[in-house]
Amino acid sequence: MSVIHRLPDLLVNQIAAGEVVERPASVLKEVLENAVDAGARAIEVQLEQGGVRRIRVADDGCGIARDDLELALERHATSKIASLDDLERVGTMGFRGEALAAIAAVARTTITSRAAGSPHAWRIAGDDRGTAPAALNHGTVVEVADLYYNTPARRKFLKSEGTEFAHCDEMFRRVALARPDIALQLAHNGRISHRLAVAAPLARVAALMGDDFVAHAREVEAESGALRLTGLASLPAYSRASRDAQYFFVNGRFVRDKLLTHAVRQAYADILHGARHPAYVLFLTLDPAGVDVNVHPAKIEVRFRDARAVHQFVFHALTRALAESGAAQAGMAAE
Ligand code: ADP
Ligand code: MG
Repeated sequence: MSVIHRLPDLLVNQIAAGEVVERPASVLKEVLENAVDAGARAIEVQLEQGGVRRIRVADDGCGIARDDLELALERHATSKIASLDDLERVGTMGFRGEALAAIAAVARTTITSRAAGSPHAWRIAGDDRGTAPAALNHGTVVEVADLYYNTPARRKFLKSEGTEFAHCDEMFRRVALARPDIALQLAHNGRISHRLAVAAPLARVAALMGDDFVAHAREVEAESGALRLTGLASLPAYSRASRDAQYFFVNGRFVRDKLLTHAVRQAYADILHGARHPAYVLFLTLDPAGVDVNVHPAKIEVRFRDARAVHQFVFHALTRALAESGAAQAGMAAE
């Protein structure tokens, strides 16, 4: 007698959601990244009750054709890669084709979208599949309501509205820092908390990190072969008691990476007291083939092909930028 059976799709997606949809902020991350991948020039986010009650993201990107709407909600369905070759040099934020399926399995999800050339928009709801005509000028609106309504065990792990909103806000900031070329707006319970026009990279950093940070930071700009590091790193005078202002992006993707963190810490070793932490917004770009982003579903970890070279490059680039300013002396004097 056989005891093995295939799990129903919904359950498969709910299991996958455990990895992808940790909290409202993870929904926001996926939906924002989809808007970015769609080539949006402007993105508007509305949250209710920390994102638990509702997350609505409207973009002016390429839209989704009617025939693709059902597939968009299906697991392992994506427009972003088609082969292993594509995967190895992927330039989009997404590529696994599982986020919307996972989200739709644990929240009431609807997508309204109008692809270029379509006479009107179409709308699909995650639970009944099937499309209906809708009104929308351009782009895509994704609405995710009542997160974990059907998975009460997960719902219990949600924190207070304030905490969940703080995580959403942080996620929004990461995308906003990485993409100054996109206008972005965030509102919570009807109140606008960020309204960001398209800006030069440093102006966007100033808008999100504050003028004080910018005034006490050195510009980093270094290049070696295909490696490039740009951004701002704080002088010792702006050091912080926690790591709350540290942003490292690899090819536009926010990452937390031991190797990079270590390179940064080493660059500050002689100028910053051990209990203090620098603030920084750093952008590393390299050939996509030199970094594997397919390490974890949330893609917050990466693996470098030539880890040693990356470490050395970041360490030296940062050390040089900090030294040029005379930061070393200033920091020592402040000890
Ligand atoms: P992935 O981003 O990994 O491809 P998703 O489940 O997040 O997987 O999305 C599935 C597909 O739906 C995408 O590949 C894309 O074609 C389409 N899509 C999702 N969101 C948008 C959007 N805002 N604009 C245009 N297309 C979208
Ligand atoms: Mg995606």
